[in-house]
Amino acid sequence: MPTIVPYTFEKKEEKKEYFTSLMKDMKILVATEKPFAKKAVDGIREIVEGAGYQLALLEKYTDKTQLLDAVADADAMIVRSDKVTAEVIAAARNLKIVVRAGAGYDNVDLEAASTRGIVVMNTPGQNSNAVAELAVGMMVYMARNQFTSGTGTELAGKTLAIHAYGNVGKLVGRKGAALGMNVVAYDPFITDPKVFETDGVKKVDSVEELYACADYLSLHIPATEQTKGSIGYDLLMSMPKGATLVNTARKEVIDEEGVAKAMTEREDLKYITDVAPALHTEYGEKFGKRYFGTPKKMGAETAEANVNAGLAAARQIVDYFVNGNVKFQVNK
Ligand code: NAD
Repeated sequence: MPTIVPYTFEKKEEKKEYFTSLMKDMKILVATEKPFAKKAVDGIREIVEGAGYQLALLEKYTDKTQLLDAVADADAMIVRSDKVTAEVIAAARNLKIVVRAGAGYDNVDLEAASTRGIVVMNTPGQNSNAVAELAVGMMVYMARNQFTSGTGTELAGKTLAIHAYGNVGKLVGRKGAALGMNVVAYDPFITDPKVFETDGVKKVDSVEELYACADYLSLHIPATEQTKGSIGYDLLMSMPKGATLVNTARKEVIDEEGVAKAMTEREDLKYITDVAPALHTEYGEKFGKRYFGTPKKMGAETAEANVNAGLAAARQIVDYFVNGNVKFQVNK
């Protein structure tokens, strides 16, 4: 048996250079049914090619087979709301990492990825300000009768209740406070009271308490098995007179029938959502100006968020290949 002499490196940099050189032919696929802005693509290209990898672009694809073909020889993939199903993962023989350029990653089949040892990451915080600004805009829009005639109301002095105090929730809380709103929040996974205190936000200890005081309820929970369909009739019925539910989280967290029932029984309640629910037409016909749903999901649709999330995704991939950094991995 020959003795295997392990390759030794004089310096840490030499080792890094050696492993980077092994990865030169890596293909990074950007697969976006709804493409990034050009500025974002240019930035992604600069990062990817600057690290010595190849960039492949699949934009505005109309058929699943195009994605299956494109991913076949990809080592890494950047997606937006594109569905990375078990079928896509099975077709991607060389895939090592998927980065969802955005916060929610419910469009990626984590189990299928984990089974193959594929790392899945998101880019938390990169589009939060865009979403938070939309949430504030939505509150104003509903307070002013969707910019039609009639006397509106002001946000100042009203209670803004934040359901989940993560990256977006925090920014909405701070913006609400700057507008003179009384801000309260509920997030059972944040145990450090300082997180709320430093923003001048009152922490409440139950979801019931939160909804019962909410003139405006801004939703920021992720769509999980626990949260899907969890916001419905009982919570809406407990809200104060004239209350508005603002949903920039995910439509799946809403029990649409329950919300419809509450809004039918209570003609003072309002609901605005990014993006339109399955019952969009019915809501529109029944509730008129008390309801609004964006035709397309637009929370993260700003030039700034596009660039931030796209570039972060590219940087995270390079950092993973070069340094093994898994800070933003969501399928640990
Ligand atoms: P985040 O991960 O930073 O924060 C989520 C927060 O939810 C965390 O603080 C967590 O503790 C809390 N949480 C989890 N489960 C909870 C539960 N059952 N009850 C209460 N709190 C719970 O995420 P984020 O970046 O703030 O995003 C928030 C939501 O906004 C997500 O649903 C995301 O998918 C959505 N989003 C939408 C758009 C859009 O375009 N409209 C863009 C970005 C994010």
